[in-house]
Amino acid sequence: QVVTRFAPSPTGFLHIGGARTALFNWLYARGRGGKFLLRIEDTDRERSTPEATAAILQGLTWLGLDWDGEPISQFDRADRHAKVAHQLLAEGKAYKCFSTQEEIAEFREAARAEGKSTLFRSPWRDADPATHPDAPYVVRIRAPLEGTTVIRDRVQGEVSIRNDQLDDMVLLRGDGSPVYMLAVVVDDHDMGVTHVIRGDDHLNNAARQMMIYDAMGWQVPVWAHIPLIHGPDGKKLSKRHGALGAQEYQAMGFPAAGMRNYLARLGWSHGDDEFFTDEQAQDWFDLDGIGKSPARFDLKKLENLCGQHIAVSDDAALRRELEAYLAAANLPALSPAQGDTLERAMYCLKERARTFPELLEKAHFALVSRPVEMDEKAAKALDTVSDGILAELTPHLQNASWTRNDLEATLGAFAEDRGTKFGKLAGPLRAALAGRAVTPSVFDMMLVLGRDETLARLKDAAV
Ligand code: GLU
Repeated sequence: QVVTRFAPSPTGFLHIGGARTALFNWLYARGRGGKFLLRIEDTDRERSTPEATAAILQGLTWLGLDWDGEPISQFDRADRHAKVAHQLLAEGKAYKCFSTQEEIAEFREAARAEGKSTLFRSPWRDADPATHPDAPYVVRIRAPLEGTTVIRDRVQGEVSIRNDQLDDMVLLRGDGSPVYMLAVVVDDHDMGVTHVIRGDDHLNNAARQMMIYDAMGWQVPVWAHIPLIHGPDGKKLSKRHGALGAQEYQAMGFPAAGMRNYLARLGWSHGDDEFFTDEQAQDWFDLDGIGKSPARFDLKKLENLCGQHIAVSDDAALRRELEAYLAAANLPALSPAQGDTLERAMYCLKERARTFPELLEKAHFALVSRPVEMDEKAAKALDTVSDGILAELTPHLQNASWTRNDLEATLGAFAEDRGTKFGKLAGPLRAALAGRAVTPSVFDMMLVLGRDETLARLKDAAV
């Protein structure tokens, strides 16, 4: 069974790169009936905060990336990590090193002066335990001195590192606490992780982590180190490129499905397919489709995909997501009545909206209550028709059957009767119904508002 994991360090919000890493792991597991686990790498006690953990979970939840089981705290597992180090010590695969910081610094200085490698070689590696002092020590792994370590990476290919470039990494610090590198390996092993998909900034760690796998005789997971995300200018994505946090995108009103679709395409491709559903993404996602060069973040593409997802979304689901957006963006909530009207209007709003703010802009007519406030353009549009014309229209609408066909026929006939075109009436009608010049079609607004509200608004506007 495939087991993947997302292992964020809770030192800040869920950023877009992390969200993409999580998504890739989620897609890979979900598409294979596997498990997607979450591990909070909170061993850095200075920088880890519960707020950051909460923000990361919230970001994942918004994105719909559900994980299996409870999130695992890495810090809580420190005893287990130390136990593994002691096992390696007992088996002679690790050793106690009593060198002090000063001695190591001296070693390096001397090596530098002689033009030799500054990689620390501990004199304690081969020391007789009988000679061990009663002093603080760290536990170091007995790294191979010759040969090469080969990382077979599903994205980067084969990456070889000469073993003489790797030092005897510390596993346990002087205070007995395990180092991060050990924690990652032990956790991934204990969690049964089969595939490690993560940013390629961790590629160098993989070589060191492999030493621990080898020493323990554990199966090395499949590695897939994915290139980082770059900004549109090709430089590493940073704050100056705009928003970095997943939650900022939620607050900007991007729907989660569009976000998932866009992030999936960020560094992974399936032929020319741009727009796809979650089912398709889960079906299609594989490690071979991950590109070797950094993907560039493109806001226009994100917007377009989001628009396509909004257009095909279920109306009730869209209403729920829009209400969640309002909360996330600290905007006033909809009343139940507003929500109901909005849901009825959804069919005509979702066609060309790329974000929730755009959708709300079009929904204005459905959310305002009487008397509808006119903006400047709407007021001007009302001035283009003769006084009383909206009042004259009223009896005709009273008798209409309130279907699209009938409304079209009624308004068409009325316009013809006045020797004008429906087009000339549309502007004033938009103004009366919405108080704005740019709105969904007059017929859609009438159908959504219903006869009574429509007539009341025409009456309010009729001069
Ligand atoms: N905690 C690491 C990070 O946030 C991830 C480590 C890993 O995936 O192995 O970058």
